[in-house]
Amino acid sequence: MRTPLIAGNWKMFKTVAETVAFVTDLRDLVKATASVDVVVAPPFTAVHAAANAARQTKIGVAAQDLYWEKEGAFTGEVSPAMVKEAGAAYAIVGHSERRRLFGESDAIVNRKALAAIGAGLTPIVCIGETLEERERGEMLAVLDRQIKDGLDQLSADQVGALVVAYEPVWAIGTGRTATSAQAGEAHAHIRKRLRQWFGGDAADRCRILYGGSVKPDNIRELIAEEDVDGALVGGASLDVRSFADLVTRSGRPAV
Ligand code: PEP
Repeated sequence: MRTPLIAGNWKMFKTVAETVAFVTDLRDLVKATASVDVVVAPPFTAVHAAANAARQTKIGVAAQDLYWEKEGAFTGEVSPAMVKEAGAAYAIVGHSERRRLFGESDAIVNRKALAAIGAGLTPIVCIGETLEERERGEMLAVLDRQIKDGLDQLSADQVGALVVAYEPVWAIGTGRTATSAQAGEAHAHIRKRLRQWFGGDAADRCRILYGGSVKPDNIRELIAEEDVDGALVGGASLDVRSFADLVTRSGRPAV
């Protein structure tokens, strides 16, 4: 049984003060919901404040990215140990905006995933096809390449413990959500490949999130798909009430 996970990717939104206010409100709003893991991914500058505000709650904190080196002359970069020390437990790697705007390849995603694991962080590895790739009928081949190259050299145990986020690029920030059937098909394929390449235990344990215009009014339908274990949410994670709604609709009342 996989515990559902709802993760909010704030991108380049929210100051430290806004982060603390959000997490403080979120703690109360999700208190009564059990059996769902909750993660927020603020900008680097607010990771520490988010982790402090979330202390002794079930809210986890993710970095939105990291660099794979431990330290050195890499101006502007942040190491896995630094985000871990700041209080993050997760790190998003390979988000489509990093791939598209900052030229990140699957090889880079792989180095980041390995470095995150090495520092004791849980990577949330994002994969997903563009609209052109889908229309050319390449969706499954793209996912295969991203899984194979992005998770290269990871052990079955490591794959079982990480999170994969399937985010079709055409659905991110566009208001165009994949139908639950489209999400279900992609997720089933991803799990099939994980089973084939990393074994049954890893495939059964690995959580696969859907991302792309998830909102409180479509989460139930998406999460009802057998292989959809939660969501990675951009826009709808910025408002604490809508994010809390996503969490409550994915869990069940605490007893
Ligand atoms: C994202 O950026 O990961 C995302 C899914 O964004 P949105 O929910 O806004 O489509």
